[in-house]
Amino acid sequence: MLKQKVIFCDFDGTITKNDNIVAIMKHFNPPGWEEIVNRLLQERAISVRQAVGEMFRLLPSSLQEEVVHFAISNAAIRDGFAEFVTYCKVNNIKLLVTSGGIDFFVYPLLQPFDIPRDDIFCNASSFDGETIEILWPHVCDNECVADCGMCKTTIIRSYPADQYERILIGDSITDFQGAKLVETVYARAQLIDLCQELDRPYHPFETFHDIIRDLEATTEA
Ligand SMILES: [Mg+2]
Ligand SMILES: [Zn+2]
Repeated sequence: MLKQKVIFCDFDGTITKNDNIVAIMKHFNPPGWEEIVNRLLQERAISVRQAVGEMFRLLPSSLQEEVVHFAISNAAIRDGFAEFVTYCKVNNIKLLVTSGGIDFFVYPLLQPFDIPRDDIFCNASSFDGETIEILWPHVCDNECVADCGMCKTTIIRSYPADQYERILIGDSITDFQGAKLVETVYARAQLIDLCQELDRPYHPFETFHDIIRDLEATTEA
């Protein structure tokens, strides 16, 4: 029996060319954000959820308009994404956006594309307090202890392999645990190195045209 194809597609550095959270922090440069990144990446002392939450707490909520405007106007969508969304629709492939990004830039940047809101998973935000507070509607299930914030493996596990052919598209360490679970991986940047280190098969890509071409080839075979 042919299984339903489902794609888990990362957002920052995958659908957009760069990481939007890093771009926001570099631009507004609140004192202390680089130390938080170091504690996450070098010391591995805090989780992604803690790091993202702490970094945004460095920004006053009064900056809301500027932060949102900067994030949306600064981001660039990777070539071929519009065609890719159409390709998935036409070929009955379920496309889920699984993003560690924040609602105030993820939804507006995806607005031009025909993706149901329920198929977009990201973190949320509140500008009601003194500082920007990140909210976490999609935390880890019992099988993940990484404290991801937006847990990609939890979403992947809800699409079991006996019913779905699962495909992941991503660019970084935050995609790697998911990459170990799925049947097919499309990787760029750091995710390529991680896959190579563990001998995890992957297809390299630079644009979404590459992925369409590859999906077409495997479907015809
Ligand atoms: Mg990414
Ligand atoms: Zn998790």
